[in-house]
Amino acid sequence: MKKSYLHTKKKTQKLTLMMIPNSTSKIRQYAFSYKIIAAVVLALIMLTSMLTFFSTRYFYVNQDYQNLNRQLITLKKENTAQKVKIDYFASKSQEIESRIAKLKELENQITKAIDPKAAEAESMSVVSRSADRDFYMPEVDEADIRFVDELLSSQEKNIDELFDNIQGKITKLEKIPNSMPTDGRLTSPFGDRIHPVTKKVEFHSGIDLANNTGTNIYASATGIVLFSEINGTYGKMILVSHGNGYSTVYAHLSKQLVKAGDQVKKGDLIGKMGSTGRSTGPHLHFEIRENGTPIDPQKILVK
Ligand SMILES: [Zn+2]
Repeated sequence: MKKSYLHTKKKTQKLTLMMIPNSTSKIRQYAFSYKIIAAVVLALIMLTSMLTFFSTRYFYVNQDYQNLNRQLITLKKENTAQKVKIDYFASKSQEIESRIAKLKELENQITKAIDPKAAEAESMSVVSRSADRDFYMPEVDEADIRFVDELLSSQEKNIDELFDNIQGKITKLEKIPNSMPTDGRLTSPFGDRIHPVTKKVEFHSGIDLANNTGTNIYASATGIVLFSEINGTYGKMILVSHGNGYSTVYAHLSKQLVKAGDQVKKGDLIGKMGSTGRSTGPHLHFEIRENGTPIDPQKILVK
C-alpha cells in the first residue's frame, strides 16, 4: 500500500490549465507536468536574455556605425577642402612654371638677338628639369594661398608689360647687324688702307675676315635678302636689308645659299667663304651700311 501511494503521489505532480472560452462552449483543460513548465520557463528566460544581449549589441554597433559615418563625412569634407587646395596650387604652380618658361624663352631670345652662336652653345648645356616633375604639395593654409594669389596678381600686370616691352626690344635687337658673320681672322679693318691688290691708298668700306674656302657665313641680323648675285669686284655677293636703315654686305663668297626675296634670321647660314671677285685669298669682305653709307662694323659687332 505504502509503495503504491508513493508512486501515485509522484505521478500526480501536474499543473492543470483550464480554458473557458464562453458560457456555451465546452471547457478545455490541459495538464502539464512541472518538468515541462520548468523547461518552458527556462527557455523563456534564455530567450529574453538572448534578446536583451543582442539588442544591446545592436545598439552599440549602431552607435559605432553612426560615429564612423560622422567621421567619414568629416573626412570627406576635409578631403574635398584639401583637393581644392591641391588643385589651386597645382594650377598656380603651372602658372608660375609657364611664367618661368616664358621668362626662360625671353632670356633665350635676348641672348639669340645679341649673339645667336652664344645662344646655341647655351641651349646645348641647359637641360630643363621642370618638365615631368611631380607636383609637391607642402603643408599650406589660407594665408599661404592669399599670399601667392596677391603676389601673382600684382606681378601679372608688371610681367605682361615687361614682356611686351622686352619683346619689342628683342625685335629691334634682332635687326641690328651685330652678330659675327663668320669665324675668321681680321686681316683688314675698316677705313683708309693700302689696297693689297692695287697697292694704292683706298677707302676700305668693310672688314676682311680670312679663313678656309667653304667656311660658313651667317646673317649678321634678321632681314630680307635684296641681292644674291655676282657683283664685279665683290664677286659672289649677298646684300641683306634689315628694315631699320641697316643693310649688310657679304662678298667674295664661293657659294650663296639664299636668293633675293628670302627672309633670313640673325645667325642663319647664308653662304660659304670664297675668293671670288677682286681677292687675294679666301676671306669674307663684310660691310655694314647705315642708310646706304658704310660704317665701321667693329663698332657694332659683338666679339
Ligand atoms: Zn674687304
